[in-house]
Amino acid sequence: MHRVDLDGEIALVTGAASGIGRAVAIELAAAGARVVVNDLDAARSKSDAVVAEIEKAGGSAIAIDADIGIEAEVDRLFDRIRERLGGLQILVNNAGIERNHPIDEMSLAAWQQVIDVNLTGQFLCARGAIREFLRRRGELPEGKARGKIVCMSSVHQTIPWAGHANYAASKGGVMLLVKSLAQELAAQRIRVNAVAPGAIRTPINRAAWTDETARAALLRLIPYGRIGAPEDVARAVLWLVSDASDYVTGATIVVDGGMSLYPSFATGAG
Ligand code: NAD
Repeated sequence: MHRVDLDGEIALVTGAASGIGRAVAIELAAAGARVVVNDLDAARSKSDAVVAEIEKAGGSAIAIDADIGIEAEVDRLFDRIRERLGGLQILVNNAGIERNHPIDEMSLAAWQQVIDVNLTGQFLCARGAIREFLRRRGELPEGKARGKIVCMSSVHQTIPWAGHANYAASKGGVMLLVKSLAQELAAQRIRVNAVAPGAIRTPINRAAWTDETARAALLRLIPYGRIGAPEDVARAVLWLVSDASDYVTGATIVVDGGMSLYPSFATGAG
């Protein structure tokens, strides 16, 4: 069996105090990476708890706060990574938010906030990581990349979502950001891929899985018959940042229990 080994690699995971980002940070650390747990200053106690959990399991992590939607904070984040860890090989662009409103009631602020974090934030962190990857010169053995980026997208990069136009637009943008960066950077041996989760049990969608009626309605959209766990997504990220996927770039791995397979056509009727 091919053992995934990230020994000696440094990985930045954004929005890692909670949900999917937390599970990704723990998974990458367990595979040997030194992990930078990024989240907002307001989530610092939760970031510290993730660092403590990684260290307790024998891994290595540090927490660095930054609002990834703000250019100066992202620049500072990468300065601190360079000072404290000396480099970076892996970025998991995970931080994301929802601000849901019917379109006629959606303020510009609600639109802008989601685009700033979910799309511009992914651009700013990708740019910072790519600059860092490109500082690493020299020959690379076949089967090894100079740097690896995984962007957290969503099934809503392709499935329209009424009442969530800002979110769906941000994830549609992430899809073409990933493909364009993958095309632009392949010759430099930088791989850029996406993971598109379906419904995963995290605080972002608590109402959808705590309310019994909402939960039943959600399960009707999932052919595999269960809501996903953050670890389901983390394992896909682990593969994409490892050398096991060295020939994969510009791809999206959909982790959704079949949600994007048009479940309403499952009976073959019509
Ligand atoms: P979550 O709310 O549990 O975690 C998101 C984390 O991002 C939080 O800790 C939050 O503080 C942090 N964050 C928010 N804004 C930030 C900013 N500006 N800078 C730094 N950190 C910030 O949500 P989650 O479900 O774990 O979501 C993680 C990613 O997965 C998001 O991009 C989301 O769109 C995506 N996703 C989630 C689901 C799902 O069902 N949970 C499905 C598809 C995609």
